[in-house]
Amino acid sequence: MTDIVVLGSTNMDLVAYVEKAPQRGETVTGREFRTIPGGKGANQAVAAARAGGTVSVIGAVGNDSFGTRLRSTLEHSGVNTDHLRTVESPSGTAHIVVDDEGGNAIVVVPGANGTVDHLVPGDEVLIASGDALLLQLEIPLAAVVAGARAARAHGVRTILTPAPAQPLPPELLAATDLLVPNEHEAAALTGRTDPREAALALLDTVPAVVVTLGAAGSLYAAHGTEPVTVPAPRVTAVDSTGAGDTFVGALAVALGEDRPVREALAWAAAAAALSVQRPGASASMPYRSEIEKRYT
Ligand code: ATP
Repeated sequence: MTDIVVLGSTNMDLVAYVEKAPQRGETVTGREFRTIPGGKGANQAVAAARAGGTVSVIGAVGNDSFGTRLRSTLEHSGVNTDHLRTVESPSGTAHIVVDDEGGNAIVVVPGANGTVDHLVPGDEVLIASGDALLLQLEIPLAAVVAGARAARAHGVRTILTPAPAQPLPPELLAATDLLVPNEHEAAALTGRTDPREAALALLDTVPAVVVTLGAAGSLYAAHGTEPVTVPAPRVTAVDSTGAGDTFVGALAVALGEDRPVREALAWAAAAAALSVQRPGASASMPYRSEIEKRYT
């Protein structure tokens, strides 16, 4: 089993389903509303656990009903929450609009996630015990850097999802083994809209990059090899929320099992393709048996 530690956010997703997302100043009537546990950290944790990893999460939830539900949802998927703190702030929330084409627009209010600005005693020991540390940018950067450095000091693979897109400090890049931006994040980081060019530019800062390309799959680039594109299965998408997190969680598990990179990417693409066919973020994430069936 792959031991994975996730240092990141836990949010309640407040999701409105609409025919077409509103423009600025416009009000539209939604069809349906749901509260769905999410946050990029929690999503990657659930994805990795369902894909067969042994997963622990470091982060914080609020002392409110959302916090209680967020914790129990993680535990229900088999994620260890001993390092998920309960703090005196509202739980993080993500306000999501999903349109009829499966596209989404998201506002994140960090809440309790904003208190995760450093590692506390015990976090580093946990990180050191893992095969991989998964990081995103929905908690304060100081903690992301501290986590990456701790992982690097103990020889643990660091996988960073640079979302939401923002400039990355050199000390974070220096401790990153694999960077997994989507094509918009890759463009924001490099100023290059061509994913291949962006990936090659990012190789100046990290040893390996996977740019996710939505329905077009993913592009892998690493030092000393030609970039390769790994296609995604053709499916009908109903909700792409959490596709990237499903992809990263499954990818971390596959890499931890020492699968060749191309195979790991195809396996992650199978997991993500399953998730886009169902509504929600973590709720839509597939279990290992489903991924195996889709992959073969
Ligand atoms: P999100 O923010 O919606 O979670 P993302 O923007 O981070 O996703 P994407 O590049 O859109 O990331 O998708 C991640 C992966 O999910 C892709 O590399 C692909 O494997 C899979 N995927 C996304 N959309 C589709 C689709 N329509 N059909 C098949 N696979 C998809």
